[in-house]
Amino acid sequence: MERYKTAAEVALDLRPDHPIYCFRPSVLRADAQNFKKLFPGKTAYAVKTNGEPFVLKELAAAGYDCFDVASPAEFAAVREASPKAEMLYMHPIKAQSDIRLALEQYGIRVMSLDHEDEVAKILRIVRALDIDPAKITLFVRIATKGHAAYELSKKFGAAPGHAVELLQRIHRIGFKCGLCFHVGSQIEEPETYERALASADWIRSRAGVPIVELDVGGGFPAVYGHDPRRKVPDLPTLEELMGQIRSDIAEWAFDDIPLVAEPGRVVVARSISLIVRVLLKKGRRLYINDGIWASLSDSWTGKITLPARFIPDPARRTRSGKAGNIVPFKVCGATCDSVDILSRPFWLPETVDTGDWIEIGHIGAYSLSLRTRFNGFYPDTVIEVDTPFDAGEEPESFASIETMAD
Ligand SMILES: *Cc1c(COP(=O)(O)O)cnc(C)c1O
Repeated sequence: MERYKTAAEVALDLRPDHPIYCFRPSVLRADAQNFKKLFPGKTAYAVKTNGEPFVLKELAAAGYDCFDVASPAEFAAVREASPKAEMLYMHPIKAQSDIRLALEQYGIRVMSLDHEDEVAKILRIVRALDIDPAKITLFVRIATKGHAAYELSKKFGAAPGHAVELLQRIHRIGFKCGLCFHVGSQIEEPETYERALASADWIRSRAGVPIVELDVGGGFPAVYGHDPRRKVPDLPTLEELMGQIRSDIAEWAFDDIPLVAEPGRVVVARSISLIVRVLLKKGRRLYINDGIWASLSDSWTGKITLPARFIPDPARRTRSGKAGNIVPFKVCGATCDSVDILSRPFWLPETVDTGDWIEIGHIGAYSLSLRTRFNGFYPDTVIEVDTPFDAGEEPESFASIETMAD
């Protein structure tokens, strides 16, 4: 990988016409180790957030030896990056052939589920492979309610009474029992975990079977940008949130069983930024060379405000407007699809124009993993950068919180 000090140097040196990812290994390492240090249990990085080999390798080098996986491609990516790492197969609804592959080829011994038919499916394969059920931990995924930028309990999770039955069934067969939940991504209030822990406690006491592990999932919020017209939102830091979770865990008496967390976003978001180019400016609209079908689909809910930095092209000799005047620009993506417009504007100096670059920060999570080849655009160039996006002077602009009218 080529290496530069800052993204601005990349833009000015290479004058890229196609999007470039700027990967900061030292930032990934610091954020990964910080999470591990703060969480009082085992950390299993959620591979779907960003499963690029260079990310998984760096995490392995940072001491990550456990990964949350959901598919054969993810098993293979983890095995390749870290041959000895443990894998937790935490997708509640799996293909039979994938369960077999996990048990037989990858030695996976931890899975999750939220329905009795999944128990039957797993049991058939365990019997066929002549594995002792006592060597396998099955986590019952429980439904949770809360506020996150992305709600995930609409799809997976057993209601409390159902979870009790599932635990008793799993225990009767001879599997080890775990409880897990996933509160959604980028949670917006710290109480979300407490409500899930209260529910887990209720289920544990009704089930009356030994629970060998509690998995609190992901959802830990990453840092993003904010609307320059408003005051910075008062979100808890990861340290504060983790302090709250520790005390909730103690309050609900889960502090005597091993804990697992499956962070994704909070580990990887800050480590990658994206350099895009303004292909055309039409009034207050900027047409850029990336968009929601490539690296920027994570912003579709309109809830995430991506921080952005202006990198003016020095070759442009004339500009209109005042440099100090920061105004909102509607950002249109590269494809011909009319939905390919970002839901929040970027706030940039009025002087921004065709040919300039914009560095979009903190896009390490759910960007590369969600790229499509729609319309033939598929950004795939990665360059190593040393300086963190948020180091030094502030970005000259921020994407705002509000949807712009046409
Ligand atoms: C996506 C996912 C995660 C990671 O979520 P983040 O919000 O990125 O931390 C963890 N666990 C499960 C089961 C997931 O589906």
